[in-house]
Amino acid sequence: MSNAGGRRRVRARVEGTVQGVGFRPHAHRLAKELGCSGWVLNDALGVLAEVEGDERSVAAFLARLSAEAPPLAKIEQIRLEELEPSGDAGFAILASRGGEGAQAPIAPDSATCDACLRELFDPRDRRHRYPFINCTDCGPRFTIIIAVPYDRPLTTMARFAMCESCAAEYRDPSDRRFHAEPNACPVCGPRARLTDAHGVELAPEGVVDAVGAAAQALRAGAIVAVKGVGGYHLACAAGDEEAVARLRARKHREERPFALMAPHLAGAQALVVLEPRDAVLLCSRARPIVLVPRRSGAGLAPSLAPGCADLGVMLPYSPLHHLLARDFAAGAGDAAAAALVMTSGNVSDEPIAYEDTEALERLAAIADSFLLHDRPIHMRTDDSVVRSTASGGGGGVLTLRRSRGHVPDAIALALAGERHVLGCGAELKSTFCVAKGARAWVSHHIGDLRNVETLRSFRDGIAHFEGLFDVAPEIVAHDLHPDYLSTRYAQERPGVELVAVAHHHAHLAACAAEHGVFEPVVAAILDGAGLGPDGTVWGGEILAGDLCGFERAAHLWPVRLPGGDAAAREPWRMACAWLLACQDPQAERVALPAALAGEVTPERWEQVAQLARSGFQAPVTTSAGRLFDAVAALCGLRARAAYEGQAAALLEASCDRREKGAYPMALLEGAPAILDARELVRAAAGELAAGVSPALVAARFHNGLADAVAHACLFVAGARGLDTAVLSGGVFQNRLLLERTAQTIERGGLRVLIPRLLPPNDGGISYGQAAVATARSRA
Ligand SMILES: [Zn+2]
Ligand SMILES: [Zn+2]
Repeated sequence: MSNAGGRRRVRARVEGTVQGVGFRPHAHRLAKELGCSGWVLNDALGVLAEVEGDERSVAAFLARLSAEAPPLAKIEQIRLEELEPSGDAGFAILASRGGEGAQAPIAPDSATCDACLRELFDPRDRRHRYPFINCTDCGPRFTIIIAVPYDRPLTTMARFAMCESCAAEYRDPSDRRFHAEPNACPVCGPRARLTDAHGVELAPEGVVDAVGAAAQALRAGAIVAVKGVGGYHLACAAGDEEAVARLRARKHREERPFALMAPHLAGAQALVVLEPRDAVLLCSRARPIVLVPRRSGAGLAPSLAPGCADLGVMLPYSPLHHLLARDFAAGAGDAAAAALVMTSGNVSDEPIAYEDTEALERLAAIADSFLLHDRPIHMRTDDSVVRSTASGGGGGVLTLRRSRGHVPDAIALALAGERHVLGCGAELKSTFCVAKGARAWVSHHIGDLRNVETLRSFRDGIAHFEGLFDVAPEIVAHDLHPDYLSTRYAQERPGVELVAVAHHHAHLAACAAEHGVFEPVVAAILDGAGLGPDGTVWGGEILAGDLCGFERAAHLWPVRLPGGDAAAREPWRMACAWLLACQDPQAERVALPAALAGEVTPERWEQVAQLARSGFQAPVTTSAGRLFDAVAALCGLRARAAYEGQAAALLEASCDRREKGAYPMALLEGAPAILDARELVRAAAGELAAGVSPALVAARFHNGLADAVAHACLFVAGARGLDTAVLSGGVFQNRLLLERTAQTIERGGLRVLIPRLLPPNDGGISYGQAAVATARSRA
């Protein structure tokens, strides 16, 4: 429609992540440049604009509005409505409108942009060395937002009144800090300070500021708690064995590998082997921890990551980190001496600290000093963790923990629903997910719900997300396990429809939905444990199904879990159960393998064998995670695990990567069919007894399991006419297993899907539950 001399007026409704990312000034600049009139504003649905001008200018405006959108914007759709030209003049940015429902997505926290970095290190700039510099293209978002719409009074920056210089930038549509809600400077904004555990400020002589003082303390071997974007880290010098060992001892002999922060990409390159795709991940705006192979002889402290082939590395992502990393690295002799340990600020399995008083209290026994600041963190958010992979549709990222930098980006559901949904997730590595229409918002990593503090974060987090995204769940999806605290939470919600989703079905659905697939697929779901509909513990499953339902097509040979949960903590028990399953049922005893003789007494071994034989306190399981535990124990890697998945991780790390041989494993026909993993265990035990190296045995085991799982998928897909395979479950965090399984299936002619945006582990369960509940609500 056009009239009045070829003039045109259009109303554009822009949806997606378009608030707090500089979208209105972008529209304003475009309109000025093209000579258009009209206005733009933020409202509850996103950005609303009206633009008027000659036909050609309006068309150019609309095309460039999305094509040249600011870096943090994610446009989901633009809906246009033609209006009568009004003949107005000028283009205005109007006040935000609250509106009926808050739907405008909030951006994740983003790494400091190049323009801000230049100012940070420019001695002539008024923000030189200011640890809270940011702009519309970068800085904190999700972690400081208390409520929507995203405006300064509803963030934790509300307590800081902008000075005249900052306010002028904030008001000026041509300034890169126009409506940058966390805008601040040394005159008016948050401040950093270095204190002791009592909160008393430390100001040593000869340092420029608190960050400089912290760097000096770190160089002297201190452990410093550092308040970052989403919580506290514990930092120390990564090349200083004495400091790293002390940190490990103070964290209660915690055995998990510590993450590193290198000052820049070149610094990381000297410590780890980076594929180009790893470098891209390291430098991405989300700045995750990237797991990459360590470089031998890099000079890092031995107790940094004992027994691990990979190291978790990240680059600075806030101005405070940039200053700290650069100050610390100044004058360092090599890359190891320039790197910092940056591990989560917690004791063992507790959630990371994020409030100042809490941090001082909880971390007092660990940290020598505290680098604090007075910008509150509203939402505790851990670092995201990723590793890259060569497999699954050309390779890419494999997310192990999705948190800071990604949350709360919306993830599309494969099918849109009419009713609002909440997925409560599993229990370990827990997340929750709220969904409406075709969009789902998966929470940051919450952690182990069996911790009281974590359970509180879970409940508070759900309420926060319901507010942010205006979701009032009518359907609440939960796991089949009646004792999961997430299940109990679901059951306590009044007036909702409950939908129970089998654990491994949720894994299948999460991967399929993320890829927009709602047709039936074959899925290999390998993980530690999840309750099956038959009441037994599943974990090595080949399923055929879609978002609504599934069938168990095959599973691993079932064995006993002698001692129940104790079997997951003590891999030697699984070695015993598997060896028992492998031998003649008439045999008197299970021989104690040589590798375990120093770890377990013959009496204890026989007691556990007796539990497995009788089934007393020994439920049946098809867990793939426990199969890895058994083989790791047989290889002499680990008789007792310090944390979940440790034995499996060590087994992967120990593999001789050049070895391509594979132990055979048959698929026994039946409904369901059975993957006879006894053959793998027999072969591994036999070769170890014959003196074959654990590195070769570990590789042949991995290869054998991968080949058998792939062939089972191809067989099931062939029998049912399916063309797509899904690989998921926590065991597929193992890159060796994932890549070989995926390649074998792809060679067999199927398309392979692996989770990308969400982890294959239980962090993806809540989204899978929401996908299932939404699909079923349509049926
Ligand atoms: Zn910036
Ligand atoms: Zn200021």
